[in-house]
Amino acid sequence: MRANGIGYSTPPARLDPAALRADFPILVREINGHPLAYLDNAASAQKPRCVIEALTRFYSHGYSSIHRGVHTLSEEATAAYESARDAVTAFINAPDRRGVIFTRNATEALNLVAAAWGRANVGPGDRILVTEMEHHSNLLPWRRLAQEVGAELDYIPITDDGRLDLDGLVRRLTGPVKLVALTHVSNVLGVVNPIPEIAALVRERAAAARIVVDGAQSVPHLPVDVQALDCDFLAFSGHKMCGPTGIGVLYGLPELLKEAPPFLVGGGMIGRVERAEATWADLPARFEAGTPAIAEAVGLGAAIAYLGEIGMAAIWAHEQELVAYALEQLRGLPGVRVIGPTEPRDRAGVVAFTVAAIHPHDLAFILDQEGIAIRAGFHCAQPLHEGLGLGPTARASFYLYNTLTEVDRLVAGIERAQALFG
Ligand code: PLP
Repeated sequence: MRANGIGYSTPPARLDPAALRADFPILVREINGHPLAYLDNAASAQKPRCVIEALTRFYSHGYSSIHRGVHTLSEEATAAYESARDAVTAFINAPDRRGVIFTRNATEALNLVAAAWGRANVGPGDRILVTEMEHHSNLLPWRRLAQEVGAELDYIPITDDGRLDLDGLVRRLTGPVKLVALTHVSNVLGVVNPIPEIAALVRERAAAARIVVDGAQSVPHLPVDVQALDCDFLAFSGHKMCGPTGIGVLYGLPELLKEAPPFLVGGGMIGRVERAEATWADLPARFEAGTPAIAEAVGLGAAIAYLGEIGMAAIWAHEQELVAYALEQLRGLPGVRVIGPTEPRDRAGVVAFTVAAIHPHDLAFILDQEGIAIRAGFHCAQPLHEGLGLGPTARASFYLYNTLTEVDRLVAGIERAQALFG
């Protein structure tokens, strides 16, 4: 096992992106007369046919409200929804399926922890640590919590080469630290944070602190085992891992979730309701108020089956090959500055960069004219950009269906943009 928690006993089988592309109907599209090169996977991933068909099949043959119905369809739909929970449980090696809560997305999952567990357990004078590289979704819930309860929010710095500064972490593990919230993979720097090592430092120096991991950019791309990571909570989104929009996951240790008051109240999450009082259902229903995203959960289950069949280790190895190649090619371009560690090792398939004298929005527009989809802006990480003294950046991000040829097209597109801008 390497420090970042990615370990394989046997080397992964190589995947064949050209063959996998046939599974994704959208990838045959042409954009502005060119084959689509979809390099915006960190924002959201495309969907394989099996996920699209699972949704269609469920809506055509298996759809119903769940849990409270006694009719056949309701029982079948309940079984499908709960088997998606089992699929998630196995996918992240969660020790207990009751700790797997379906949410709308990673953002809602993180807000759930802050609003439910956080308000009940973090008080005046307590310390909350986040990192300087967080996505707004793993920053604003904690900042609001700190403001609401009178806690102190402190930032773990990053090193000059774009890694988490572990000495900086150790220096901040003093006083009443109640929570350390950090991303597994940065959606800008691409760096994979060594969560097991970080968790060991936190457990040793701030035993009362709980560890919240934002897995939005890791769970879709590399083998994630919550027990190996040793985190207390993990949040991620279905839409970034070939699943539908509208479904995300919060994994939490059941003993922590059980002691937290509900996040949302209403139907589906109660034990008994009287005019003046109510009791709450057991986990996981306690945190799934209202009619959940039933079909979307089934679609997520199909996505997990698809990724599992290919193998997360193979997907990770493929993305490492793409990112190593992209870094090498981009480094060869004058005027291009890659953000984050320059070594491909321990970097995921996210590459943010700037091109001298070309605004990232102009670059994204020019690349789009050639069918290449990248993202431009602050990628919901404005404090990180500000800390690095950067304006908006361009970002290419890869997934299992991307190819080295698409990296070549990206590089050629940047060169053409440079020629255009003189
Ligand atoms: N965290 C990280 C690191 C992300 O990259 C994202 C999305 O880009 C999120 C959280 C939020 O994900 P969602 O918008 O699906 O809630």
